[in-house]
Amino acid sequence: MAGERPQLRIGLIGTGFMGKTHVFGFAAAQRVFDLPYELVRHTVADRTEDLAAQAAQALGFARASGDWRRLVEDPEIDVIDITAPNAFHKEMALAAIAAGKHVYCEKPLAPLAADARQMAEAAEAAGVRTQVGFNYLCNPLLALAREMIREGELGEIRSYRGIHAEDYMADAESPFTFRHDPVGGGALADLGSHALATAEFLLGSVEQVLGDSVTVIASRPDSGGGRRTVEVDDIGRAFLRFANGASGSIEASWVATGRKMQHDFEVYGTKGALVFSQERFNELHFYNTSDPGGRRGFRRIEAGPDHDPYGLFCVAPGHQLGFNDLKAIEVARFVDAIAGKRDEFFGFRAGQRIQEVVEAIQGSARERKWLRTG
Ligand code: NAD
Repeated sequence: MAGERPQLRIGLIGTGFMGKTHVFGFAAAQRVFDLPYELVRHTVADRTEDLAAQAAQALGFARASGDWRRLVEDPEIDVIDITAPNAFHKEMALAAIAAGKHVYCEKPLAPLAADARQMAEAAEAAGVRTQVGFNYLCNPLLALAREMIREGELGEIRSYRGIHAEDYMADAESPFTFRHDPVGGGALADLGSHALATAEFLLGSVEQVLGDSVTVIASRPDSGGGRRTVEVDDIGRAFLRFANGASGSIEASWVATGRKMQHDFEVYGTKGALVFSQERFNELHFYNTSDPGGRRGFRRIEAGPDHDPYGLFCVAPGHQLGFNDLKAIEVARFVDAIAGKRDEFFGFRAGQRIQEVVEAIQGSARERKWLRTG
């Protein structure tokens, strides 16, 4: 019975898009998984007391605060969950770690890789568990794709194409936001970080990059009624060389008119290929060169209970997981790591690594030459 389990009391910072998604993740994970803790929505923080109080009411938290530091200082809280804008991640996480809290933080982990490294080192020194919100990696079909690649079903991997394209910044009149911050902002950091996390999840380490960075919309309306110059990329691209010998590319764009969630990849090997699209993320397409001539073609593998943990959500194949379910899986993995039941799934070290690759691509785009990822 959940009530007999020890409590894990959560302090959530930020109640926008991701704050709500995390709350859904906590609620669903508690019902779907056999978690070692009872998850308690303890306190929520936002920019003002009013915003926090409204969010507490809507999201089912017992308490609210207009100052995130109160959550960090509260000895009753075990986990600090950061869904505030990127520029706050470092300060909030370091304070939480110093107070001995486990930390769940949205991606990108920090605006700069050096900051992300400091956060990872602090967490390791304090012995707290961490999780970064690269939720797309929690799709059971990505685990299947990785297994197929590792077990040689595709043969020797020759090439990779990854993309994360959306259109939420395509309108030149959409406002300047934290995502345009000259430090750590841009499509590559925001969306390319997801594409790179998936690329390395599937194929292993990216060793060298050749980047290109394009600002399409030169200025955007600011909150003061004027316009602010945009210094970051709207489109970031890179050629990649993987440690396993494969070559590839990724593209990140938030001005891809019509695209809502194109987190896609294609992997080509000597014996087969995989094709995946996040917009239909319960399907993985597999081409197998050993199929008989005249019968070859991409076969659609549909997500179902054979793909753990799909079966915990639904007993029937083809009924499909949704975006929020990926967050519930992420939550469950984090909670299991806190209980010592598994290693961190994608902790601060992993978040640091992605930020380093992002910065290598940005540096390469500036210097117009191939760079090693470190
Ligand atoms: P948002 O603007 O919708 O929400 C941000 C929230 O933080 C708001 O409630 C805002 O009021 C609050 N906030 C701002 N400053 C604060 C402060 N000083 N103290 C407390 N709260 C504060 O943004 P979002 O889209 O939810 O993005 C938040 C984070 O989530 C970003 O790091 C972003 O990169 C990440 N994100 C991840 C995914 C994913 O798929 N994993 C998707 C979207 C966003």
